[in-house]
Amino acid sequence: MPIVNGDSMTAPNSSALDFKNALEILKEEYPERDGIGIKELIDSKIRGGLTYNDFLILPGYIGFPASAVTLDTPITKRITLKTPFVSSPMDTVTEHSMAIHMALLGGLGVIHHNCSPEEQAEMVRKVKRFENGFILDPVVISPKTTVAEAKALKEKWGFGGFPVTENGTLRSKLVGIITPRDIQFHANLDDPVTAVMSMDLVTAKTGITLQEANAILSKSKKGKLPIVDENYHLISLLSRSDLMKNLHYPLASKLPHSKQLISAAAIGTRPDDKIRLQKLVDAGLDIVILDSSQGNSTYQVEMVKYIKERYPELDVIGGNVVTREQAATLIAAGVDGLRIGMGSGSACITQEVMAVGRPQAAAVYKVTSFAARFGVPCIADGGIQNVGHIVKGLALGASTVMMGGLLAGTSESPGQYFVSHEGKLVKAYRGMGSIDAMEDKKAGAGSKDTKGANAGTARYFSEGDRLLVAQGVSGSVLDRGSVTKFVPYLMAGVQHSLQDIGVQSLNELRKGVREGTVRFELRTVSAQAEGNVHGLHTFDKKLYS
Ligand code: GDP
Ligand code: 5GP
Repeated sequence: MPIVNGDSMTAPNSSALDFKNALEILKEEYPERDGIGIKELIDSKIRGGLTYNDFLILPGYIGFPASAVTLDTPITKRITLKTPFVSSPMDTVTEHSMAIHMALLGGLGVIHHNCSPEEQAEMVRKVKRFENGFILDPVVISPKTTVAEAKALKEKWGFGGFPVTENGTLRSKLVGIITPRDIQFHANLDDPVTAVMSMDLVTAKTGITLQEANAILSKSKKGKLPIVDENYHLISLLSRSDLMKNLHYPLASKLPHSKQLISAAAIGTRPDDKIRLQKLVDAGLDIVILDSSQGNSTYQVEMVKYIKERYPELDVIGGNVVTREQAATLIAAGVDGLRIGMGSGSACITQEVMAVGRPQAAAVYKVTSFAARFGVPCIADGGIQNVGHIVKGLALGASTVMMGGLLAGTSESPGQYFVSHEGKLVKAYRGMGSIDAMEDKKAGAGSKDTKGANAGTARYFSEGDRLLVAQGVSGSVLDRGSVTKFVPYLMAGVQHSLQDIGVQSLNELRKGVREGTVRFELRTVSAQAEGNVHGLHTFDKKLYS
């Protein structure tokens, strides 16, 4: 007989059969599912807009392993990713290294525009040219380089295998290769490297796959495999030491029938941005994000129409938006995706200064529930502090989530680590609307003058503004290691969460929410406290190993 709170509880028919009937009784006598549906959660006019911390998702039934959960999801009407993770177009978050690694891991990195158009285009080119395992910009030396200079280069770069080409540049004729061993004990430091370099080279033709190149490298017993074109001009290099590393990225974001990674970049909506965009398109851009804190404007509508007409192959993501009305304007203008969020970013003070914005959970639901009618995928941008927030954004209808602060501390973000006052390893992170970012004149961009109209910070000030009003702060974030570990952690976390919810894919999650089988619960302030670590004297919050 079950004992509840110390009292003996006599059920009306407490035979073993009754327990087996629990499911039938549930069906017959409890037609309403436990918890509340999405509409009831969000649509309360009295409660006010919710944020991610204000609610929880109720658990469902687990009938599959977490590893069976798939996370494929659209980023635009035409392009699907294998994971829902996107990095912000911010100058402390996404340059080519972040963009390459996010794409390798199945997500997307959006390259910021707080730099000159040429610099941004070069970053796009690096993403498009990236071939996993191939060193595409190897350090190359000329036949005139001396042994002393080669030794100095080894000191500088930390590796000593250098291809030697006629002009000392990439795409020039390969004449030899030197290795650390060739120069290590060579007495005459003024000799040219031609005196010591090896010329019996094993090379491979450009276009070769990584697998084929690796097979040649393994067989050749050499340390390097130069990749050359039909004229024996050096194109790239493969290193034996990389063979040992895990070079396999099965989730990499690529367009069907393409070997190249998908590249995305942000631009503004000023006339000069059209010139910038042409350079990005020439570099191979696949997705452009119109970077505006309030996207419901004539400027953005015109820019969307211009891009769709001039570059029909390019996908355009508009934003940012937080209301149905804002979304409707941009959907009507022809966007292929929307970006949602105003004032929810970790380095952002828009809501405080402008009195404009919307709590992120409310914004995501309101916009996605409308945009879904038109098949327009949405990015939940900002306010993501943990895996739970990611899952909530996706449950509310977002197809992907965009992260700034969470990724700024990884080794793939721009900038160097430094030690904070408290002795912790940190990296700089700043809002693009911070005074710091707006004043930063990076290569002619990011300034207050008209050139600044091109910059990533232009979304936070208007032409002719004499006084900059900050909408963001600058600070620092803790070291998070490499995204090659952190993104797989996020992915595993989301898979486990979906398993708890009882859905096997993001599609199933969105369907369950829409149809009311995935249920929610509001969280009081004390429930929020209960859901965090409490009552411990000390603890160490290690998130993964
Ligand atoms: P080496 O024999 O001294 O050249 O060094 P290893 O081949 O053992 O290691 C070189 C590491 O640096 C590999 O992981 C390469 O992918 C990496 N690397 C990056 N850029 C270059 C480059 O321009 N030249 C060479 N040789 N290696 C590079
Ligand atoms: P986080 O992931 O750090 O919470 O938020 C990142 C997002 O904050 C960015 O993608 C962008 O939309 C937004 N953001 C970046 N800089 C600023 C800023 O200075 N002010 C405001 N209001 N939002 C910003």
